[in-house]
This record gives sequence, C-alpha cells and structure tokens, in this order.
Amino acid sequence: MSTTSGRVKVAAQDGPRELDPHQWRGDFPILEKKVHDQPLIYFDNAATTQKPRQVLEAMEKLYAEHYANVHRGIHTLSEESTDRYEAARDTVCRLLGGVSREEVIFTCGTTEAINLVARSWGDQNVSQGDEILISEMEHHANIVPWQQLAERTGATVRWIPISDDGMLDQEACGSMLSSRTKLVAITAVSNVLGTINPIKQIIDAAHANDALVLVDAAQSVPHAPTDLQSWNADFVAFGGHKMLGPTGIGVLYGKRQLLDAMPPCLGGGGMIRRVRKEGFEPADLPDKFEAGTPPFVEAIGLATAIEYLQQVGMQSIAAYEQQLAKLAMERLSAIEGVRIFGPGATDRAGIISFQIDGVHAHDVAQILDRFSIAVRAGHHCAMPLHLRLQVPATARASFYFYNTSEEVEKLGVAIEETQKVFRKK
Ligand code: PLP
Repeated sequence: MSTTSGRVKVAAQDGPRELDPHQWRGDFPILEKKVHDQPLIYFDNAATTQKPRQVLEAMEKLYAEHYANVHRGIHTLSEESTDRYEAARDTVCRLLGGVSREEVIFTCGTTEAINLVARSWGDQNVSQGDEILISEMEHHANIVPWQQLAERTGATVRWIPISDDGMLDQEACGSMLSSRTKLVAITAVSNVLGTINPIKQIIDAAHANDALVLVDAAQSVPHAPTDLQSWNADFVAFGGHKMLGPTGIGVLYGKRQLLDAMPPCLGGGGMIRRVRKEGFEPADLPDKFEAGTPPFVEAIGLATAIEYLQQVGMQSIAAYEQQLAKLAMERLSAIEGVRIFGPGATDRAGIISFQIDGVHAHDVAQILDRFSIAVRAGHHCAMPLHLRLQVPATARASFYFYNTSEEVEKLGVAIEETQKVFRKK
C-alpha cells in the first residue's frame, strides 16, 4: 500500500512541445458526435471538459475488477481499491509540484473545498472586525462561503477592484491589506474574463501582512503547470471535471500546519481514530477531512486524467491555449459590433466572453448551437462581476487543447451569421 506519509517526489517537467490537437482528439469519443448534422465544436470547457477514453476505461476497470469500499476491509478487493485511491493522491501530489500526502484532501469539487476552509478554518480563526479580501472577478463559489462566514462571525468581506479591462487592481489590493485582513481569497484565472492573476505577488503581499491566501485554481490547474512551492499558497482548491476527470471529485490543498490545527468539517466514518459515548478523537490527515465513503472511483478517474494531461504536457497546453485565445481575439475583435471583455491576449488564458450589439447572450448561444458550436451564456456564476461590467449576461467561448484553429474560424463565421439573422429582424 502507498499510504505512507510524507512528500511525494516529482519527475522533472518537460518544456513546452508543439501541440497538435489532432494527435489527441481521437481519444475523446464525444468529439466524434454530430450536432444538427455538423461536427460538434465544444467551446464550453470552462464549465466542464470532455473525457478521454482512458479516463472512462480506468473507472470502468475499477468497477469491473477491483471495486470494494476503501480503508475499511482487510479483504483483497478492498486493499486493491484502497491502493488505487491512495495512489491517486500521490498523482495529485506530483501534479502540484511534490506536496505531502497529508496536504491533499479529496473533496467532491472546488466548491466543497472552498466551503471546507470557510467552515473549518474560518469559524476557528475569523471573528468580528476581521476582514476577508476577495476580488470583483470571483466565481460565486469563492464569494458566498465568505459572505456566510461573515454572517456567522461579524467579519467583513471587502472587494478588491478590477480595472475596466479586467485586470486586478494590485495597488488597491496592497492598500486594502491591513492587520485586520485574515485571508485573501482569489481566483488564479477568471472564469469569465480569462484574466491570469499575479498569484505569487498577491501571496507575497498578503503574507507580508500576516494574512493567509486561498487560491481558487479551478480554471488554472487544468490548463497550466502548478508549482505550489513557488506560489507558497496556504490553501488551493480545484476540481476534477474541468480537467478531463469525472464530476464529484475535487481537491483541497492546505499547508500541513494549518490543516493539522483545523477541526474536521464533516463527522462520520473514516475521519475518526476512535469514538466513545463521551466523544470522538479525529483521525490524522488527510482522513480527518474525508468523512464517509470518499469518491474513490472518481479520484482514480482524476488521477488517470492527470496522467493523460501530463502526457500532453501542461506547459504545451498553456502555450497552445494562449495561441488559440489570441487567434480568437483577433478574429472576433475584427467583427464590428462584437465587444470582448477582459484583458489582451498576453494576460489571458483560453477564455473569451463577448457580447454582440443588439443580441442577447442567450440568443447568441442558441444561434451558435445551430452551427453546432457549444458556448455558455449568462452570468457564469459571477454576478458581481457582471454588475461591474454593467452587462446582464455574456456569451463565453472557452478552449481546451483538443480545440483547433479551424474551429475558432468557424466561431468567427457563425458570429457573423448571427449578426445577419438579427439585422433581418
Ligand atoms: N471557481 C471557478 C473559478 C470556477 O470557474 C468554478 C466553476 O465554474 C468553480 C469555482 C466551481 O466549481 P465546481 O462547480 O466544480 O465546484
């Protein structure tokens, strides 16, 4: 069994390689699907990503050949499941640059990971008069748990402003940090604007003020290398389904001394060392935060997804998606009446939210669907950001490494056709 404690070694990272999406597309059965008689163009990757055969097969194999509940059985199948579950944790440790197994908690998603910190660390460490800083570009998953914490404790949530072009106002962030700041909770990449935030600088500034930092990495871990030792983040949350893995699995990374001091969030089986009528004694990390039967098949699916992504190469994925975003920005901004939100291509990941003059975002998405192009429309779980942008809704195209430049060109053509439909009306 690989359940020993301690740091997990990582192999040296490859540099970026030229990425050819056609080398990988064949692994994704759904990309062969036709929608309205045309090949599917899937540009809704910020919401969730498609799954390669390898992930589907790994989960099916686990169910077919090794399935039994983890940690509790002495029998062979239970050991086989447990070994694979704990090996999945090792894979996550390596992805994050070689963190310790005790620092990696499996959750059911990014949202649960952030809520865990707000409940467990927050209730223990935050009180009346304290401040939590979040930015105007956060997803609701990194807003509401802090508002709830503020309601419970009398603390205040303060908003770090963004500029009109969707960049974090770092100066304002610096001046908002004070002895009252307990935590900065910030997204690494905006799920609407695609903005790549300067996480390391934010963390350094927060630490200089004795504040902790939680990074919402839901949109960054799937798309670029993550080296937590260089970030020096206190907490990092991300999920499996946005990185080729299944739904129902996510990760909370936390520094060991912080997690050690935090009370368990959920109570139940698996998270205890012993239970008596008088009370219970929690288990060691990471089990302390994994009450009940964990999503172990999903964790194994996630580990397979991570191995797949590492084969493609995280640096190559980041570079390729930036190229696609640049191409899309050039193509879309050349169309009169299209407004793109967020920064220029150099500060942006593969996410582009836009508006077509005179056409509601929902209509845009509906018409693009007729061209077999899947984009999302709405507030993308970022209502405060849309209020800041003064738009009720945007349409969002978000890329992954299996998307192609030909698909981006088709998006441009479909947007032009959408404009024609509305001009006729
Ligand atoms: N944070 C960001 C930046 C996201 O984009 C999302 C999902 O869109 C989440 C958090 C929440 O992820 P989940 O719904 O998988 O928990």
